[in-house]
Amino acid sequence: MASPSPSPSPSPGTPAEADWEQAPSLLDGASHLTLTAADCDLRYWLGAVPHGTLRGNVLGHADDVRPTDAVSRPGPLNSALTQELAYRSVAEEKATRALGHLVALAPDVGTMEFYATQLLDEARHSMVFRRHLLRLGVAEDRLAATVDALAAEDRERILEPLETLGLRVLREERDFIGGVLVLTVLVEGVLAPAAELSERKWRVFDPAAADIERGAGIDEIRHLTVGSSVVRAHLLDHPEDKPRLLELMREGYALWEKLPTTEQLLRRERLFQEGVEAHRRLLGDYEVWPGRRLVDTTPEERLETGHEWARRMQRTRLRHMGLEEAT
Ligand code: FE
Ligand code: FE
Repeated sequence: MASPSPSPSPSPGTPAEADWEQAPSLLDGASHLTLTAADCDLRYWLGAVPHGTLRGNVLGHADDVRPTDAVSRPGPLNSALTQELAYRSVAEEKATRALGHLVALAPDVGTMEFYATQLLDEARHSMVFRRHLLRLGVAEDRLAATVDALAAEDRERILEPLETLGLRVLREERDFIGGVLVLTVLVEGVLAPAAELSERKWRVFDPAAADIERGAGIDEIRHLTVGSSVVRAHLLDHPEDKPRLLELMREGYALWEKLPTTEQLLRRERLFQEGVEAHRRLLGDYEVWPGRRLVDTTPEERLETGHEWARRMQRTRLRHMGLEEAT
């Protein structure tokens, strides 16, 4: 119950870090693996992702893996998951569009190919998060309008300020490394732990959503580790650029402080909690993380655990990049 749905056909030749069965969790992988753009070029992606990570499941889960009624019917779990998916679908769409600038600015073929693959990954994430809403009762002809309505407030208060910073660096300043840093540290680095928590907490209620998260998380290991390698290599070649990048980090963290992300996460965790209370038997002894049953957790505890994972992962990764002063 606690692990991803089994693969119908294991895929020989897929590197372990991109394999559905063997890939580590997002937090483990992003904290401990080292991958470079040269490792993860277009040839790697074509060989590893469609048939390894995705196992041919373009929607991120096998056909026979479905949400439980507890989630697909109207109720607090349905509200919590539809809000989350709508928001993340918009976030991934914005990331995809921003990546177009990174592809254009990439200084060599290696980084150009890597960011082209990341662009496709993020476009896919946006699609699978959005399309899963169809399994949760949203009508196909209402999909776009529903995403807009569910995500409107968070889009304006969280995503647009981040996008403004990203586009200033990428479009106005045409700063490739600055753009990589904003994307990999500020956007993905801060959101990744929430994605890991999401996979774990939806696993029983909606195994399809958890599988979608698992696949996106495997991609994310690559995005975070390669992004870190790109910044690290740049700083080894251009140590004089460090003060400028640290200043950009300070600006980004100051912006994050002002965004109402805690309020947003707590709102969804409280809805989730109502669902936990109503469906305790379904969860049984399922452990959301080792040693902790999901039924015993509180909204605040889940939120704080996600924050703690984020802090730990950021410290490890910034040290690897040579920007430990930013923490
Ligand atoms: Fe993504
Ligand atoms: Fe990503």
